[in-house]
Amino acid sequence: MIIILKSEVTDDQVAHVIERVEALGLRAHLSRGTYRTIIGVIGDEQKISAEPLRAIPGVHDVIPVLPPYKLASREAHPQPSIIDVSGVKIGGGNLAMIAGPCAVEDRERMDAIGSAVKAAGANIFRGGAFKPRTSPYAYQGMGEEGLKLLRETGDKFGLPVVTEVMDPRFVEMVERYADMIQIGARNMQNFSLLTEVGRCKKPVLLKRGMSATVEDLLMSAEYILSQGNSSVVLCERGVKSFDKATRNLFDVASVALVKGLSHLPIIVDPSHATGRPDLIPACALAGVAAGADGVHIEVHDCPERAKSDGPQALLPQQYAEVVAQIRKLAELFSKTISAPPAAAVKSKT
Ligand code: PEP
Ligand code: MN
Repeated sequence: MIIILKSEVTDDQVAHVIERVEALGLRAHLSRGTYRTIIGVIGDEQKISAEPLRAIPGVHDVIPVLPPYKLASREAHPQPSIIDVSGVKIGGGNLAMIAGPCAVEDRERMDAIGSAVKAAGANIFRGGAFKPRTSPYAYQGMGEEGLKLLRETGDKFGLPVVTEVMDPRFVEMVERYADMIQIGARNMQNFSLLTEVGRCKKPVLLKRGMSATVEDLLMSAEYILSQGNSSVVLCERGVKSFDKATRNLFDVASVALVKGLSHLPIIVDPSHATGRPDLIPACALAGVAAGADGVHIEVHDCPERAKSDGPQALLPQQYAEVVAQIRKLAELFSKTISAPPAAAVKSKT
């Protein structure tokens, strides 16, 4: 950490800053320039980052050298992390192909969509039983009944399942049915929810908030990691923008950026990022080309009857075409879509 002092700083103030640094068991290295004096702090930056140094008289600015997300950073873990979702590996050259309806629906729909995405090459099945809707009057999801249906469908087709949890009180319930727990964009900074999933044993799919910076996303991952759950997969799903042409603004650069900053896998969700089936294939491929460790796409066999997000759903045939293209691109980067090991997926109900 570097402490930059004000040009008019007094000797007493300099001595006071040094005293504060040394009281924390750290070393202060004073460097007096013609116009500015700076203090380099040597030692564990964590010890001092919590101190309100900017409030000390004579301090102009404080510049951390290390990122504030310690456990999520590349410095802490130079090799890419590989996350295991009931036998499906994500990261380190293994691509997740997550697909399914936005919301869990009736058994017939789930069977039709589950079998279609499995045949198309998906390795994880998705579906929301608790839906975060902007309107309280919109479809809210099936709750525990939906979790059971999702689990049954996953088991039937040999696919691990991922589903969203919105409330810390339901983490334990969702954990019983799901192989992976999703934290949706709207809850990325629900810190009590992050703490709760950090204490559970299942991998977490953490979606970027629609107004969150990349640093915010990594800080939210840090909440989960700091509770002891090291299985976190990040997801870029678009951020708010001024342009109404797409549902959100797909920030593909964030994928390459996160790869440099963190060891955690990051996948892309072109469904929520664009909201438009015609743009999903291009953005899925762009994500993989940028280094994404997987693609999350909403698929429905009858979008006009979907309970939520029907207009952005791909038809099973369209999804199969995207997966075929991703497979070719993956080969170019020596990556693979791991096959779901059916034997590893057990019924939790
Ligand atoms: C979803 O996955 O259906 C969802 C609601 O996503 P997001 O949180 O990214 O909007
Ligand atoms: Mn959705």
